[in-house]
Amino acid sequence: MHIPDFILHEATSLLDASRLLAEHAPDARVLAGGTDLLVDLKSGRDNARHVVSIRNIPELQEIRVSDSGLTIGATATVADLDTFTKSLPPYRPIADATSQMAAMQIRNMATVGGNIGSAVPCADLPPILIAMHALVTLESTNGERTIPLEDFFTGPRATVRRDDEVLKAVIVPAPTARSGSAYERFALRDGNAIAVAGVGAGIELDASDTISAARITMSAVAPMPCLVGSAGEALVGYPFGEETLEAAAAAVARAAQPICDVRGSAGFRIEIVDVLTRRAVMRAYELAMEVAG
Ligand SMILES: Cc1cc2nc3c(=O)[nH]c(=O)nc-3n(C[C@H](O)[C@H](O)[C@H](O)COP(=O)(O)OP(=O)(O)OC[C@H]3O[C@@H](n4cnc5c(N)ncnc54)[C@H](O)[C@@H]3O)c2cc1C
Repeated sequence: MHIPDFILHEATSLLDASRLLAEHAPDARVLAGGTDLLVDLKSGRDNARHVVSIRNIPELQEIRVSDSGLTIGATATVADLDTFTKSLPPYRPIADATSQMAAMQIRNMATVGGNIGSAVPCADLPPILIAMHALVTLESTNGERTIPLEDFFTGPRATVRRDDEVLKAVIVPAPTARSGSAYERFALRDGNAIAVAGVGAGIELDASDTISAARITMSAVAPMPCLVGSAGEALVGYPFGEETLEAAAAAVARAAQPICDVRGSAGFRIEIVDVLTRRAVMRAYELAMEVAG
């Protein structure tokens, strides 16, 4: 099957991209790495006639760190983010996701903005980024807005992004002292297999090592990557231990709305999220203790 004809527009700046999107809305799509979009155009899932490439906009490619946090340009590749975060301890939990996604050939093309922008339920970056309080910046000719990443998704392949907005950057605030995060996923094989289930965890400890804040997220077992508020509540105010782990895992399993497909039954996915939650919370806790010294 061939990709149907479309008109390719090469945006030279963010504002140029926004103008092109507005001009051709609702029939225009942003093209970043193309690892999702080109598949969708070829399969007929998407039949947009205008494609606006943002690949040659230098400001979108940057990853930079400051005292306040990490700013990841939307077209930074997953491979670049993997290399960057592996050498930067506070942000290393992001590499839990980048190092397991797809295969190296895809990671070299796939972008961070594309992983978020496609808004598929099984995307690997949102769970760890949401667990780490990430924000996304959207820009259009009407200005810029920044929102928590968990508020970006509204359903499977659906987001709050307006037709003329470009996802500009993801901002991960600098982790506080005595905090740790982790992402655990299960897939049917190591390379090029999307997650059957994924769980992210972000934990903060107070001076007596009691859990003072917790963000637990899930993917591939809900219509969109999301925070599980009840799982965080099951942890906050308690010391780490078997009972707290069990309560958090049970909360995630209760909140999950798994599908049943070739990768696994709904029941199997529920069992998997229980295990993944325990592992993610435990690793996040161990990291928080390590940071606390
Ligand atoms: C073989 C294979 C294996 C894969 N394995 C995984 C995996 O293990 N885990 C995983 O999470 N994903 C996986 N994917 C999916 C895909 O590679 C990722 O989601 C990737 O990060 C998408 O990025 P991209 O730059 O290629 O996006 P594109 O295909 O260019 O775009 C994807 C969507 O997002 C929109 N978009 C892109 N950038 C922006 C932006 N800046 N602003 C607004 N909208 C934007 C596009 O319009 C499009 O709708 C896999 C894909 C393939 C083909």
